[in-house]
Amino acid sequence: MSQQVIGNDVDRALEILRNGGLVGLPTETVYGLAADASQKKAVAKIFATKGRPNSHPLIVHVASIEVARQLCSLWPHSAELLGSTYWPGPLSVVVNKAPDVLVEVTGGHQTVALRVPGHVMAIELLTHFNGGLAAPSANKFGKVSPTTAQHVLDDLGTSVDYILDGGPCAVGLESTIVDCCGDIPVVLRPGGITTEDIQKVVALGVDELGISRAPGMLPAHYAPQCQVTLFQELAEAMRASETFDAATLRVIDASINPLVFASSMYAQLRQCDIDGIKHLRVVLPDAIGIGLAIRDRLTKAAHGPKSQSR
Ligand code: AMP
Ligand code: MG
Repeated sequence: MSQQVIGNDVDRALEILRNGGLVGLPTETVYGLAADASQKKAVAKIFATKGRPNSHPLIVHVASIEVARQLCSLWPHSAELLGSTYWPGPLSVVVNKAPDVLVEVTGGHQTVALRVPGHVMAIELLTHFNGGLAAPSANKFGKVSPTTAQHVLDDLGTSVDYILDGGPCAVGLESTIVDCCGDIPVVLRPGGITTEDIQKVVALGVDELGISRAPGMLPAHYAPQCQVTLFQELAEAMRASETFDAATLRVIDASINPLVFASSMYAQLRQCDIDGIKHLRVVLPDAIGIGLAIRDRLTKAAHGPKSQSR
């Protein structure tokens, strides 16, 4: 009898990872597609399975700040402050890599992104694994991120050797990425830890290099099949939708409770496609707190050929 692809057998996941296989990894942000970051062939499988360009660096997940320090050539004070405050949690720091960190993981760069995820199953796995796990989101490149084990199976099928089921992701959005290489840290991607949170711990600079500093950040991403249109106000969204067929239209107000919306955002985008929705109109939250990350992801989701942003 063939073994179940989804389960909660951490020992089985460990064995697969040590043998160079791929494991669906529950975290508090989204489900990751994990492989041993020290095995070139295993890392290559991540890119092949996702259809992700090799130049897009992967975040390396570790069990603790001690392991993170071992993977960099220099551990900046800002990374120490951020890691000791917000790890385990939805925050990744970019630092200069240690010589033995594979360039296949870092997209050819001399820097590496590191994170200690805040999910009990992920921490248990990482503690026993005793090394780094490269893990981008466990979906096809450019598509909606997975927030349940079933989403991973739906997207990647049996090209993943095993999927650990840790329940639905609590945060639901990818980690905040902070570049700690320079004198003043900068946020490369908004996420679960807000800019306001970060500024309680370190002073932030402005990202003058913008997108060039974060390879792999694209204008279009996280996109469902349906057309996504963004609005600042509900009344405007309703007015603009009057002539649409109600059966294929959905209006979601993300401004009411942004934190709750974030945790179910990707599931809601997926549900639209399952329900045959053609036009999704979303009312954006304010650009503060988690609202900044929601706006970032939805703007990218709305950037596809069928979508638009208002
Ligand atoms: P994800 O797409 O969620 O897997 O997160 C990976 C993203 O983190 C990449 O697309 C980059 O934008 C960013 N990132 C990862 N590693 C680095 C790095 N070494 N330098 C700069 N940005 C990085
Ligand atoms: Mg992703």
